[in-house]
Amino acid sequence: MIKPGAWLGLLGGGQLGRMFTMAAQSMGYRVCVLDPGDHSPAGAVADRHLRADYTDAHALEALAGLCQAVTTEFENVPARSLAYLASRCRVSPSAEAVSIAQDRIAEKAFVQGQGIATAPYLVVNSIDDLQQVGANLLPGIIKVSRLGYDGKGQARVTTIDEAIAAFVDMGSVPCVLERHLPLQMEISVVVARAGKGEALTFPIAENRHAHGILDMSIMPARISESLATRARAAALRLADALDYLGVLCVEFFVTEGETLLVNEIAPRPHNSGHYSIDACVSSQFEQQARILAGLPLGAVDPLCSAVMINLLGEVWAAHEPDWASVLRHPGVKLHLYGKTHPRQGRKMGHITCLAASLDEALATAHAVRHELGIERA
Ligand code: ATP
Ligand code: MG
Repeated sequence: MIKPGAWLGLLGGGQLGRMFTMAAQSMGYRVCVLDPGDHSPAGAVADRHLRADYTDAHALEALAGLCQAVTTEFENVPARSLAYLASRCRVSPSAEAVSIAQDRIAEKAFVQGQGIATAPYLVVNSIDDLQQVGANLLPGIIKVSRLGYDGKGQARVTTIDEAIAAFVDMGSVPCVLERHLPLQMEISVVVARAGKGEALTFPIAENRHAHGILDMSIMPARISESLATRARAAALRLADALDYLGVLCVEFFVTEGETLLVNEIAPRPHNSGHYSIDACVSSQFEQQARILAGLPLGAVDPLCSAVMINLLGEVWAAHEPDWASVLRHPGVKLHLYGKTHPRQGRKMGHITCLAASLDEALATAHAVRHELGIERA
């Protein structure tokens, strides 16, 4: 076990890193963030911020020298940086797990290899691959295999010609073409895994997206017991197969007849698990810190129902939102990430509406969204 007072390292300086940093600090750890940005949400709260590129040899050496263990907050960390750090100190999650999750082609093959279904898809490395596509993948979505997020690097297509144009538009990099499915619901399962036989799943979240970005998460998800059991089992199976150490999230599609399909795996805490900060005994970030420090997992039981609303840049379009009005609702918790430029689509913060019943939490969320001028998803 790594004792409080010691340094924990973090690759990435975004909001997930900020919330990890705060959770680790609240247990007495010091946190060093490596991030190239001048104004990083995590760097602003960390005990130390190394302002350098993720591949900067000096910075990586400094991080390894200072910290007893290092984790990441986003999946696009260069694998060789993780491999270098792993030669110097404890690193979780592992470079192998991250490298699968950062590549849709590898990720889908891995999921199917575990006997778990995904949306029907085709690996697209060339225009030729697309020309052979069966009509059953259209209408579809072309997604770049690497480096996409929040719906970026994706295009909806209805014909092969559109698919070819989208592929070329994305620079002819490796992609997948996925059938566009009629979704009944999207759900996600956050897993905290500290080793073999030591894994817990957080309450399942029901997720609503708008324009490819998570808009709202509802906990508990309004799904049957049997679907919840299958989703938890699938998420645990994937975490086990990766021999995963840390927090990961499995995003699922639910289609007709309670068919469960894995959309993707995030090798880190997830936006849909933010409710856990206020609504669970231990948050996903506390679990990340505990696992990194070699401490036992905390309980993940829900304390109440919760609805999380993402606050994107557009909420600031007219003026600074009226926080006093929002916070007048009992049970509303405001989280802002300290970002200065509220651009369209940028995740600036979130609000969690807590209540004894889900109906109450939903009613508060509805009122808050209205006050903030957030369109209905
Ligand atoms: P993030 O990193 O924010 O999760 P992403 O860029 O990795 O996003 P995806 O998770 O692949 O993108 O897709 C974003 C959203 O687009 C999904 O949550 C879903 O709402 C919709 N979507 C993606 N693929 C499909 C599909 N095959 N059929 C129907 N809807 C889809
Ligand atoms: Mg996603």
